[in-house]
Amino acid sequence: MSRLVIVSNRVAAPQQSRAGGLVVALDAALRDTGGVWFGWSGKATRDGTQAVQHARAGNVEYVTMDLSEADVAGYYDGFSNRTLWPALHYRLDLVEYSRETHVVYRQVNARFAERLATLLRPGDRVWIQDYHLLPLAGELRARGVDNPLALFLHVPFPPSDLARALPNHASVFGAMAAYDLVGFQTRRDCENFDAYLRDATDSGEIALRAGRPPPLTRAFPISIDADEFAQAARRARGSAGVRGLRDSLGGSALAIGVDRLDYSKGLVEKFQAFGEFLRRHSGNTGGLTLLQVAPVSRGGVRSYRELRHELERIAGHINGRHADPQWTPIRYVNRNLGRQTLAGYYGAARLGLVTPLRDGMNLVAKEYVAAQDPDDPGVLLLSRFAGAADQLGGAMLVNPYDIGGVADAIDAALRLGADERRERHAESLRSLREQDIHWWTAAFLDALDARGTSRSRATTA
Ligand code: ADP
Repeated sequence: MSRLVIVSNRVAAPQQSRAGGLVVALDAALRDTGGVWFGWSGKATRDGTQAVQHARAGNVEYVTMDLSEADVAGYYDGFSNRTLWPALHYRLDLVEYSRETHVVYRQVNARFAERLATLLRPGDRVWIQDYHLLPLAGELRARGVDNPLALFLHVPFPPSDLARALPNHASVFGAMAAYDLVGFQTRRDCENFDAYLRDATDSGEIALRAGRPPPLTRAFPISIDADEFAQAARRARGSAGVRGLRDSLGGSALAIGVDRLDYSKGLVEKFQAFGEFLRRHSGNTGGLTLLQVAPVSRGGVRSYRELRHELERIAGHINGRHADPQWTPIRYVNRNLGRQTLAGYYGAARLGLVTPLRDGMNLVAKEYVAAQDPDDPGVLLLSRFAGAADQLGGAMLVNPYDIGGVADAIDAALRLGADERRERHAESLRSLREQDIHWWTAAFLDALDARGTSRSRATTA
């Protein structure tokens, strides 16, 4: 079995951190065959030195590279997060494009390729993660690398017209054609990318390399370790933290939201919908409390700072208007929680409110389902614009832009009887179990292996 090489912007060895499901699953795949995990160390050096660190655990080598402060500003904070992130989430209005950061993004990818090429052995399968590294395959091919190269895009891919509106899109999105396999979260993302390649080729904006077939594109919805998460929720059920939360509610129902503080998550609209629910329906519900956990993210970017201020304003406004001395409708918490505590909180919530305006997948939706007690589960209200909506058939789907519609859906969800809640939950849980994170890694690598074989047949024929 040939080795696996994983490349991601950040390398998180599981023994070094409180690892999430993705890290654990990728690491397990690496340990199956042995291999290398390569990426940025997370360190920005003032003097511009780019030291490389090697660490080994069993048959897996972790290789990380420092970047200079200027590189991090251009490649990571700049082009990845201010340009690509909004563009890929359909938000051209928030795209900050600069030629300088674009150049640095390309240079850092070239430098990663330079270093990575020295680590590769013939036959190694290379699996690259996400939007920070779109041009990496082209850079590796330019250095003579002939290994199977695959990309998984964790975020959405927008409709062709939006993708083609990004200045110099050919050098980032067009460059994705250099992969053998490109995996997406949903069929929609996959179709959008196929249409992009077709349109950009037809209009002469990109030229596919003669003699190399275009990449195989397929959807591989990412997931969580559902059984492990359910166990964490069961363990947390009787814990002091969860009991404390329940006691503090004094018998009223809990709705929970857990989102990084990001404009793609639709937090402003969620608060507005909750406020509208209180206005329209509060008489019927006996004081529903929304616990919104929203750790601050990318605080250096203006649009994120503005969002934070806006949320503080709206939460204050809604609480001022509806609270009474015994009850605060929105509990807005910016801190990080441990996974078990989080699992316990999900389990204590009668409603999960997951309403992004656009999201590649959304793992919070899956965690909420996995954490429910199957005998008395809560209801998931889920945005149609989250990739997870394709799989969680038991969720109540909503349009997050429709504030009144979401307000009414909250009311309807609270009124669901136990039988319907159990049926909905069972349906979502079934697909979560069938396609969990271990299925995801196996399905992706199977597709890459199949593609590798057909490619070598094509070249030898
Ligand atoms: P994104 O990757 O865009 O942030 P996802 O919903 O796919 O969105 O994944 C977010 C992950 O981060 C989930 O596993 C979630 O449990 C975790 N998470 C989010 N907020 C917190 C928090 N405050 N404390 C701990 N974990 C969190």
